[in-house]
Amino acid sequence: MAKMWIAGEWQDSASGDTYDVINPATGELVESAPKGTREDARRAIDAAEAALGAMAESTAEQRGQWLDKMIELVQAHKPELARTLTMEQGKPVGEAANEIDHFLHGLHFYAGLASKVRGSYVPLPAKGTYGMVMKQPIGVCGGIVPWNFPITLMGTKVGPAIAAGNTIVVKPASTTPLTTLKICALLSEAGLPKGAINCITGPGGVVGEELVENPKVRRIAFTGESATGRHIGEVCGRMLKRVTLELGGSDPMIVCDDADLDRAASMASVGRYYNNGQACLAVKRLFVFDSVFEAFMDKLAPRVKRLKPADPLKPDTRTGPMHNRTQRDEIQAQVEDALGRGAQAVVGGQRLEGGDFARGNWFAPTLLTSVPDDARIVVEESFGPALPVFRVKDLDEAIEKANHTEYGLGSSIWTRNLSHAYKAADKIQAGNVWINSLHYGYDEMPFGGVKASGIGREHGPEALEYYFETKGVVIAVS
Ligand code: NAD
Repeated sequence: MAKMWIAGEWQDSASGDTYDVINPATGELVESAPKGTREDARRAIDAAEAALGAMAESTAEQRGQWLDKMIELVQAHKPELARTLTMEQGKPVGEAANEIDHFLHGLHFYAGLASKVRGSYVPLPAKGTYGMVMKQPIGVCGGIVPWNFPITLMGTKVGPAIAAGNTIVVKPASTTPLTTLKICALLSEAGLPKGAINCITGPGGVVGEELVENPKVRRIAFTGESATGRHIGEVCGRMLKRVTLELGGSDPMIVCDDADLDRAASMASVGRYYNNGQACLAVKRLFVFDSVFEAFMDKLAPRVKRLKPADPLKPDTRTGPMHNRTQRDEIQAQVEDALGRGAQAVVGGQRLEGGDFARGNWFAPTLLTSVPDDARIVVEESFGPALPVFRVKDLDEAIEKANHTEYGLGSSIWTRNLSHAYKAADKIQAGNVWINSLHYGYDEMPFGGVKASGIGREHGPEALEYYFETKGVVIAVS
């Protein structure tokens, strides 16, 4: 049975309660985990608070070295960690290994940045007086993480939090606690104070809520659904607590008439079907210029047909099960709603059942055309392997439709026309615009959303700023 990682030790829930973590491919038990309570969360928060004094003694260079050491420790266990991630999350084991690599790359970025932080010197008008702007750690941080990329999205919080000299309590999604617990324990072996990194498991509404409400936690970094983010934003507002919210998306991809259609089709299939479509930044609405629509679909449809869902533990599997039944039922309802309103399934369109798919949560990779603009799959965030493709007459129509959503996370345009590319970068309402490219989770670039996709940024030096307080100091030398 898994245990929580609190104050540098494995600990059970004070209640003794546990819950089962289920394998999405087989429906079987992977392992049970502690069903944490508010009391458990408070123990972890207290441990993180107690570690602040020792963290304050560390130098920025030392924190960078700890992050480097963490990379070594996790690297040594990568194959077994990837396997655990596949068993609890469902993603193919190759994607799980990629996720761990990406996590390590993120730590590497902040390891290098830890000692590069600058404050400033400010000349003041009064004679013999000058100012300093200091950057100081905020204190205890709470990192709340979803199930779709549990490890990289834990890293986007732990990396900058530690680099800046904070301590952290991580709360993974209830369904994906196992790899996170193992990694948090490994990270803690890097030499940093006991209690600097803690991991608590259990229901978001209980242990997560305690993290958000507890006044000892001074900063919340949340990734998850927009509805949960709204709630967390409200509580943090009331508590005057620093918060960043990385939320849902409905990313548009625009394919112009002058695009490299082969490359655009290839990237659309990766962009929608990677992690079985369960990604905030997945391509969720595809707009193709009328004049190249058929040519483009002739390239995309065979690619989608070639995606064959299979056992995610097999090294050559590219598509696994969906993470859980709720998720599978949701995408099925969205696809059925579109089909019921006149959409056509060019590929897939239904659940996979029987034989290898008799257990677990499977859905056929799906490509839809003639989808009405008010269909659920267009209006809501769709979190599964189904892609609606729309005809547009020109760029203006594409941008207008791209912006016709409450979300604004990522977006992309495929064109060789510089004016088109610039117009898209300028006019699409999103935190990110990728031109002839998609997001590979660059740790160097700030990433985040506008509108209902969130507040604040992760990745890059920009994200590190959210883990510091800025203090103004005036020195008068008489
Ligand atoms: P979710 O909102 O259900 O849960 C996210 C986390 O919040 C989990 O750890 C959960 O236990 C916790 N939680 C739930 N209720 C809480 C509460 N009241 N207080 C504190 N914590 C609480 O999201 P999910 O279903 O796990 O993840 C999928 C969503 O995440 C999608 O909408 C996706 O687009 C979004 N996402 C966004 C990004 C981004 O960077 N913008 C990245 C990945 C996923």
